[in-house]
Amino acid sequence: MQLDPRIPPGPLAEQWDNCRFANKLVNPANKRKFTIIVVGTGLAGASAAASLAELGYNVLSFCIQDSPRRAHSIAAQGGINAAKNYQNDGDSIFRLFYDTIKGGDFRSREANVYRLAQISNNIIDQCVALGVPFAREYGGTLANRSFGGAQVSRTFYARGQTGQQLLLGAYSALMRQAAASRVKIFPRREMMDLVVRDNRARGIICRNLVNGRLERYSGDAVVLATGGYGNVFYLSTNAMACNVTAAWRAYRRGAGFANPCFVQIHPTCIPVHGDYQSKLTLMSESLRNDGRVWVPKNPGDRRDPADIPEEERDYYLERRYPSFGNLVPRDVASRNAKEVCDAGKGVGETGLAVYLDFRDAIERDGLDVIMKKYGNLFHMYEKITATDPTRTPMMIYPAVHYTMGGLWVDYHLMSTIDGLFVLGEANFSDHGANRLGASALMQGLADGYFIIPYTMGNYLASAGPGSLDTDHDGFREAESAVQERLNRLMRNQDARGGKLQTIDHYHRRLGKLLWDHCGMARNRAGLRHALDRIPEIREEFWENSYIPGSSQELNQSLERAGRVADFLEFAEIMVLDALEREESCGCHLREESQTEEHEAKRDDEHYAHVAVWENQGADSPPALHREPLRFENVTPSQRSYK
Ligand SMILES: Cc1cc2nc3c(=O)[nH]c(=O)nc-3n(C[C@H](O)[C@H](O)[C@H](O)COP(=O)(O)OP(=O)(O)OC[C@H]3O[C@@H](n4cnc5c(N)ncnc54)[C@H](O)[C@@H]3O)c2cc1C
Repeated sequence: MQLDPRIPPGPLAEQWDNCRFANKLVNPANKRKFTIIVVGTGLAGASAAASLAELGYNVLSFCIQDSPRRAHSIAAQGGINAAKNYQNDGDSIFRLFYDTIKGGDFRSREANVYRLAQISNNIIDQCVALGVPFAREYGGTLANRSFGGAQVSRTFYARGQTGQQLLLGAYSALMRQAAASRVKIFPRREMMDLVVRDNRARGIICRNLVNGRLERYSGDAVVLATGGYGNVFYLSTNAMACNVTAAWRAYRRGAGFANPCFVQIHPTCIPVHGDYQSKLTLMSESLRNDGRVWVPKNPGDRRDPADIPEEERDYYLERRYPSFGNLVPRDVASRNAKEVCDAGKGVGETGLAVYLDFRDAIERDGLDVIMKKYGNLFHMYEKITATDPTRTPMMIYPAVHYTMGGLWVDYHLMSTIDGLFVLGEANFSDHGANRLGASALMQGLADGYFIIPYTMGNYLASAGPGSLDTDHDGFREAESAVQERLNRLMRNQDARGGKLQTIDHYHRRLGKLLWDHCGMARNRAGLRHALDRIPEIREEFWENSYIPGSSQELNQSLERAGRVADFLEFAEIMVLDALEREESCGCHLREESQTEEHEAKRDDEHYAHVAVWENQGADSPPALHREPLRFENVTPSQRSYK
């Protein structure tokens, strides 16, 4: 496998310009001769499909949901970063670049991250032009708030519904092109396989989720914008349909999978409260602008929070990190929450929670001001927990939230398969080992609105037409592999003396195994244990899982089963990757590699690289390749937020 990142020549600030100038162009009259398949209609996919169609390409747009508008991006709450420096508080493109690369613990490419910071400002202009109702100051200028890992205010937001508003903007751009017949929308379709011939992506096989039929689609290029795989943990803040299937099928067809063990654990989620829970709810990081995180100083203190006097409270983030306080990055906040709970200071019924308290902010600014900023989040919290967070501190605990790992892409966002581009959370992204808050939306929209329109043209101008007839052997072979897998899943219909289990049973077991051994903290013994257990769960899943109904109709159990089957394969490279990386960095703490103060200890000598896994077939272990990371504009340092 060749890993050429194709970083353009020249100084950092000129590389994107150089790339765009060197890119070949497709003549406007020829664009309509190319068909581009875009899988996914979240912020990355919708913005890409709209922009490519606007340029004149024929675009086929696919999603699982009944409307593109329902993609998981709609859940994003807190905001989107940009280096506009409207606050005049010292921001700049270089500072956003620096914060992002440092936040990711120096495990991402300088060139990509710098381009992201450059493009961030265009995104805000584009979204305002599309009518996104960002919050504004009294005088009409756009408002900003702060997010973790930065000492400037650069997060643009639309109350606690930023993802929804941004997606409505991208969706309207998409539907404009649908009305112009340049985009054809295929909702309720699940991509089940990628068709590859001569190492070039040629099309996809989808299952029509309404009638169960398999369908073939051919194109000159394929764009995957299929989101992240956090649901491998079963419990996460992700939407229930989030999955790894499209990315995993592409991996099985030859695309490299990068850094699969880089998973972000978000510190402010509503804690798990029972065994039958299937979903976790995020409380936006923006709450840490005003909320203060604390636990009782004394382990086992079960008093009502109102009865715990000030001197018996430990505001541990403010104490340990005086300069960033409650706004330390997510990995630091999560690890500290785990640490205080492990020390017996956790609160709530399970002891796996810490307080996020708005008392002081309400006293300082007044309830009205605080409600204006966070009202919808407070209502959501109260609906779920039946507790009013303006009177009693919220209880929060870390939960799986985002995946920095994903399909490997070069600077052009192309995977190791020619013509297969990967955008948004589905690629291994610009966030290194830890994503800063409000930067996923920035990356998804940078990829879709501003990068792929350039790099796709360059690819098509160089590679020329590549679509195949859907009767071609490549399509036939891929479709029959999908059919065979579906038949296998539907096989267990008899009662087997009560041995059969639901799909969720296996998913929950896998998730717990990963959370315990490949979550916030990991060690060699635990990872080895997980590696032994995954094939056992997988075997039991294929032997004993029960799916009611048939494959020729709408069947949500079957949909889930296919995704869980892929998670059960994918989990193995995730754990292998974690085992291989014997350093702590960003979100993942290798217990064998920490400083005396329990901070993550990186090992730049051995691990300053992107780990890329290559499929070697079902019977051989995957091969590990490494893309070295070079830092010429920043000096990797031990991250400190003190
Ligand atoms: C609760 C929550 C709040 C968040 N808040 C913020 C925030 O404030 N700021 C921020 O920057 N980030 C935030 N994030 C992260 C951010 O929302 C996501 O990273 C981002 O929206 C991902 O966008 P995407 O376009 O890559 O993928 P998604 O929005 O996940 O879209 C994936 C698309 O792919 C489709 N798809 C998937 N698999 C298939 C398949 N096999 N076949 C066909 N279609 C498929 C889906 O139908 C969907 O259309 C938040 C995340 C969560 C969970």
